[in-house]
Amino acid sequence: MRPASHTAFISHPDCLLHEMDFYHPESPARLKAIEKELSASGLMDKLRRYQAPLATIGQLERVHTQEHIARLQAAASRAASGGFVYLDPDTAMNRHSLGAAYRAAGAAVLAADLVIGGTVENAFCSIRPPGHHAERGYPMGFCLFNNIAVAVAHALETHALQRVAVVDFDVHHGNGTEDIFQHDPRVMMVSTFQHPFYPYSGIAGRSERMVNIPLPAGSNGKVFRKAVDEFWLPALERFEPQMLFVSAGFDAHADDELASLNLVEDDYAWVTEKIKEVARAYAGKRIVSVLEGGYELAALGRSVAAHIKVLMKP
Ligand SMILES: [Zn+2]
Repeated sequence: MRPASHTAFISHPDCLLHEMDFYHPESPARLKAIEKELSASGLMDKLRRYQAPLATIGQLERVHTQEHIARLQAAASRAASGGFVYLDPDTAMNRHSLGAAYRAAGAAVLAADLVIGGTVENAFCSIRPPGHHAERGYPMGFCLFNNIAVAVAHALETHALQRVAVVDFDVHHGNGTEDIFQHDPRVMMVSTFQHPFYPYSGIAGRSERMVNIPLPAGSNGKVFRKAVDEFWLPALERFEPQMLFVSAGFDAHADDELASLNLVEDDYAWVTEKIKEVARAYAGKRIVSVLEGGYELAALGRSVAAHIKVLMKP
């Protein structure tokens, strides 16, 4: 019998097979750390678990060029005999990467279907490779397909939604998501990110629907919460999104050495509460959350648990 929880947890064993190099911070251990913490804290038993399907080429082509997809397929062929094929200095594929990328995007699509169909209120996709740096025509920054963008486009096209919001609290700016949706009046994106910092974007593209809030290195939860209260929430309340998508990166955590923001688990719980309030007011509670960054394994596990615990609350 399925647990009565209104939160889905979507993953796939193929996401553990993708590796970008030995000792790369974006490693399979990340997903294992999340599952370990969710099990230890007793949350896992209460989640509705699903295996991610493969995204279809048609779903991917809504947000990526055919050339982009063909480039990844060609790289996968080159990686088939073993070893790593580099797409940029930080981003590589092994022989399992393309399969994992299809599962990661497929998880986000399934999450959208489950939430819109009313099977669950919200869903968390514990997947890798992450997605928010992948642009319409280019993989970059550990990302192959833009998983959240694939799910947003799916929600817009097949479920005829008119207004959806992407909330991105990863420490890096979601340049790929912005690239894909900046000219689409149906999509608002609100984000915070360390600046100046990789990928050095998000300042010029700012508009009424692209609410990018750069935070200086060293910013703590107080600064982050102020940015959310002052900029994100008024914009979201104005836009009245019918559904919310979360690019859930946890690399702004104080323990994460890849970047220099100082958030803690309580900040992730707090922002999840705020996202739920917006979802309750305008979106029939519908939230799809997709894992992006987060590289300090213990902090990642605890932060995802804090995020999911709030998603699971009535
Ligand atoms: Zn990141």
